[in-house]
This record gives sequence, C-alpha cells and structure tokens, in this order.
Amino acid sequence: MLSTDKLCAVVAVPDVKSMQVQVVRALRKTSTVELRLDWLAGDAEITEFLLWLGKTSIGKGATLLATCRRRTAGGKYEGSIPTQIAHLERAIEAGCNWYDLEVESSSVCRPELLHILRRGRRLASAHFFDKLPGNLKAVASALDRNRPAAIKIAAQCDSLAEARRLSSFAQARNDLIAIPMGEIAAPARILALRERHGFAYAPAEAATAPGQTSLDEMQSVYRAEKLNRSTLVYGVIGDPISHSLSPRMHNAAFASGRIDAVYLPFLVRDLKDFVGSIKPLRIAGFSVTIPHKERILKYLDVCDPLAEAIGAVNTVVVRRGKLHGYNTDYVGILRSLERRIRLRGSRVLILGAGGVARAVAFALAEAGAAVCICARRPVKANELARVTRGTAMPRSALCKEFFDAIVNATPVGMHPNSDESPLDGPELNCRLVFDTIYRPRITRLLQLATRRGIETVPGVEMFISQGAAQWEMWTQKRAPVKVMQRAVLLALEHEEEKRPAR
Ligand code: NAP
Repeated sequence: MLSTDKLCAVVAVPDVKSMQVQVVRALRKTSTVELRLDWLAGDAEITEFLLWLGKTSIGKGATLLATCRRRTAGGKYEGSIPTQIAHLERAIEAGCNWYDLEVESSSVCRPELLHILRRGRRLASAHFFDKLPGNLKAVASALDRNRPAAIKIAAQCDSLAEARRLSSFAQARNDLIAIPMGEIAAPARILALRERHGFAYAPAEAATAPGQTSLDEMQSVYRAEKLNRSTLVYGVIGDPISHSLSPRMHNAAFASGRIDAVYLPFLVRDLKDFVGSIKPLRIAGFSVTIPHKERILKYLDVCDPLAEAIGAVNTVVVRRGKLHGYNTDYVGILRSLERRIRLRGSRVLILGAGGVARAVAFALAEAGAAVCICARRPVKANELARVTRGTAMPRSALCKEFFDAIVNATPVGMHPNSDESPLDGPELNCRLVFDTIYRPRITRLLQLATRRGIETVPGVEMFISQGAAQWEMWTQKRAPVKVMQRAVLLALEHEEEKRPAR
C-alpha cells in the first residue's frame, strides 16, 4: 500500500498559498498527503507550488502523492496529457514519492511518456462517478496493465450492499485501494479501516463532496487510526443524517471510557439494505431517527412493550444476531420533569401528536400524570388522548387552563424558523415549560416562558438523556453523562457561531 498510515489527507484548494498552508497543517496530523495539483488555478500555479515544495523540507520522510487529474476523469485539470505528465514529473523531482494517474490518461499515453515518471511509484486509478461497475475484475485488470505499484477503484455506491461488494473485492489483494463514494457508503469507507490494509482518504480541511469525512473528524470523532477487527460498531440511521449530533456524543463517551467502539452516521433510504448490512458490517446496536422510528418495528425480533405501545423505536440492541427494540425518547423528559414536579396526579399539556408526543404521553400516563394533547389535527389529538386515557384540547381553550408542565413536541421554533413559537405568552399558564427542540438551544418558546417567570428545560437535556440511556443499554456500563453533555454543547455552540446573525 501507499504507506503504513491508514489515513491520507487530501489537499485540494485553488490557490498556492492555501495549498502550502494546508500541506503544512496536514503533515502535523498524518504523514501521508495527496496533493491535488489539478485543483490549482492553472499551469503557472502548479509550477509555483511545486517550486516551493522542492525547496522546503516539510515533506521529508512523508508519503506525498501527486495527482493532476484531467477533466475527462472527473478532475479539474484542463491541460493536455503531456503537460499533465510534465507536472507529475516535476512533482516527483520536488519530493513526491507517489503519483496517481487515471486510466483515461495512462491508456492513451505513449509508453515513453510513462517512462519519464519511472522514479515515482504509480497508483493507477479508475473513477466511476455514476455507479459501481458490474465487472470489478475487468476494471482491475485494465488498471494492472503496465504494472503500477498499486491500483485504486473509486465508485459511487448507492447502497451499503454495493459498498460491501467493492470493499470485499479490495480485501482479496493488498495493493488495491477501494473507495466507495457517496453519502450512503460513507460508513463503509470508515469501517474499511478495521481491516489490516484498510486505507481512507480524508479532506485535509473541509469536506468537498457529500459523505466525505474530514481528517480532523476521522481522527478526533471516529478515532479512525485505532479501528480494528474487534472494534464494536454502533450508529444512527436516518434521512437526513449529516446534521446528527449523536456521533459526537456517543464517540466522546466511548473515547472517555476507553471502549473499543465506534458510532457512525448511516444515511438510510432503504431500510432493508441497512438491515441486511447489520451482520456483515458487524453492527452491535443503533439509534433510529426520522423517518425510520415506526418502520423499523417490522424488522425487530423483540420489541419492548412500552415501545410497542408508543409505536416507535429509537434504540436497537443486537443480541446474538437478534434485533431488540426500545424507546428512550421519553426518558429525558420523564427524568427532567420528575426532578421538578411530582408526576403522579400532575397535569401535563403536550403540544403535537407525533412520535415524541406519543412517547411522552405514554410514559407520563404510566407515571400517573393526566395528559392533555393539543395538536393541529384534532383527529390525531383525540386518538392519542384516547389511548393514553388523557384529554384532547383545542388551542382556543389554553388561555383558561392551568398545567403543571407544558411540553412542546412539535418542530415549531426549530432552526431556521427560530422566530416562531407554538404558543403565545398568555397561553403559558404553567409551572414548567419543556421544549424538545435543541436547535436553537434556547427557543422562542423558552424565552417567552422565562419572561413570565416560568421555569424552563431545553431540549438538549432530553437529547443527552435519551442518548445516555441508549449507551447504557449497549455497553451495560454507566454513561459518562458529563462527557456526552460537553460534546453536544460544544458542537451546538460551534454551529451557532457559524450561523449568520438574523
Ligand atoms: P413527528 O412525528 O413528525 O411529529 C411532529 C408533530 O408536530 C406532529 O403532531 C405534527 O403534526 C406537529 N407539527 C408539525 N409541524 C407543525 C406546525 N407547523 N404547527 C403545529 N404542529 C406541527 O416528529 P417527532 O419525532 O415527534 O419530533 C417532534 C420534535 O421533537 C422534533 O421537531 C424535534 O425537534 C424534537 N425531538 C427532540 C429530541 C431530543 O432528543 N431533544 C428527539 C427527537 C425529537 P402533523 O401530524 O399534523 O404533521
């Protein structure tokens, strides 16, 4: 393979200065770096960068891979094949020990041109941006022509099954780098690192394509260099999933407990494809989020009775190959409310009648509280009130009612609509307001409640509690709640800092 490193930082920026800065920074984190010369603005910039590289000593002892991929192969280089080869030759002179040459160029260029590059080691590459080719053997044989030092096949994979097919093909030989591309295949790219010859590319700074994981995230969130065949795999399934804070929270907990486990975001559109990958990818448990919380029920072998009554599962534990489903969504709300009010005999208003509202209503009813449901569709409110022996209530009645607590289980007020509130000030006649929303951390509803002197609980508390309960089910250990909380709050603060002021 290219080097003993498992991670190759990809530096792909259009100007020379940024490329120099990123190379220096990347080499502090890994000693294998791909230089995407084709990303530089033109021939003059490539020459300027390589002159700098030749003069500096920063790359000494490192594995530097030069790539100047032409447009015909999905790169950005617009020059001819001879100028492409000339740049690669200069890159080798400047200290790059490897170069990547795509099959589109190598198959048509004259042998004497390739001979110019003999002092570098060739990575022969093929890219399939639309779909995974049916005959991978034929692709590999085409790449093997002219005896490169290693070969690389990068292909769009639209399912985990396709990603697995590409990865298993690569496992048969140790000089083949397989890159399943696309967001659905992203976890498979990270899990490939469990294998002895596992290797992955990661953008040195920000990701440049969907499903890419930056070098920093690979190292600090997924501890990619430590993954091995015995690493336990957990994750969260949903669509969309890239916004999920669960990987930060659960991986921080695994790291703090020195547990050999990783938690990955799975973009799942086809639940059957994911369920079929649980065994081959050796997944030990997972969280479930929108839109799969109800749909997952039919794939379970065992379902907790409360989760069954709620009709939604957010946690799956895999025990001896069998899927056991639970719901921990209500845990946070119940714990937070319990700390502040006596649930038995209390009166709690729930806004909404969706998945979270159902979980909260069932749990509160079981704890002896009287639940009132207010939802925009009266038929849904009536149905939930009926099964939890509660009362459905129209919004027009709220001004005249008093509750021990009000729980918002609708997305009203969630970023980017953070100016909205599901209720107005005069409708907040209660001792406590709980908002399940955690983006933003302090919603408009919570601000209105504070102004009226009402105690508030932000949704992040629920998020951490449901996650801690999942983590405990998977590990059978006490969850490091403080660590999880720190990871989530830090991520939310970063997000809020990056958001343009409204
Ligand atoms: P869901 O199943 O889609 O239910 C959403 C409920 O809100 C439904 O009753 C829906 O009514 C209602 N609703 C949607 N838009 C509305 C609007 N503009 N005005 C009035 N009602 C509206 O979603 P869920 O899974 O229950 O999640 C609900 C919220 O909980 C999410 O938005 C999320 O912020 C929060 N949540 C928090 C956590 C946490 O850990 N803190 C975890 C999960 C969810 P219809 O049926 O008429 O559409």
